[in-house]
Amino acid sequence: MSDLDGTLLDHDDYSFEPVLPVLDRLDEAEIPVVVNTSKTRAEWLALRGEFGNEEAFVVENGSALYDGQEEVVYGVRREEILEVLKGLKGKYRFRGYSEVGVGEIVEWTGLTRAEAERSADRHFSEPLKWMDSEEKEKEFCELMEERGLMTLRGGRCLHVQGKTDKGRALDYFRKKDKVAIVALGDRPNDLAMLESADIGVVIASKDGFEMGGEDLLKSEAIGPLGWAEVMTKILDQLGVHGGAGSSEV
Ligand SMILES: [Mg+2]
Repeated sequence: MSDLDGTLLDHDDYSFEPVLPVLDRLDEAEIPVVVNTSKTRAEWLALRGEFGNEEAFVVENGSALYDGQEEVVYGVRREEILEVLKGLKGKYRFRGYSEVGVGEIVEWTGLTRAEAERSADRHFSEPLKWMDSEEKEKEFCELMEERGLMTLRGGRCLHVQGKTDKGRALDYFRKKDKVAIVALGDRPNDLAMLESADIGVVIASKDGFEMGGEDLLKSEAIGPLGWAEVMTKILDQLGVHGGAGSSEV
């Protein structure tokens, strides 16, 4: 199970060449790679062809899992989130994705128009451009917690979503496939996933950001190079060279 940005994809240029030979090796061994991302379903569907990946996946930071026709929701539907936010409009100054056009989202995020459209195609979260004081932001975040929601600071936006995390989906795969799970990620929002996995791997990042305890493996190389480095070691140690597999990444 793998995070995308900064893990399977380079943080800056979104390249992923280093992981391709390892993905081939996993494919030959019939070990599925499940992506667990804060991206939307539309964003991953647009990307996954490049990885030749048809597996189940988890989107919007642990909010929902898609496996064929099946949808498992761990988060809160966006309509419910918007309803809560609507009631706070008089109290705090902010603008959400749902209130603005694609052009404005392009301005906020630096994404292309097509990317912004896929990013806006959300079902379990609402990114906000915060226009009020830091003090008010803190108060707002506490209020979200009281209302059964949570907030995450990411890039230029404050994300509001249901109380869930990337670790929630692991049980689904354990029950369904009876597998051991290797999980890889680079940020605190990946920690629950890494700690719930049989083998958790922290992928190094450019800013030297560190996290996690001693029970987690750590890559030397950054981003997809680190992914390839650690996965190669794990597969070598497990003696995986093709044929039927018993693990899941
Ligand atoms: Mg990441």
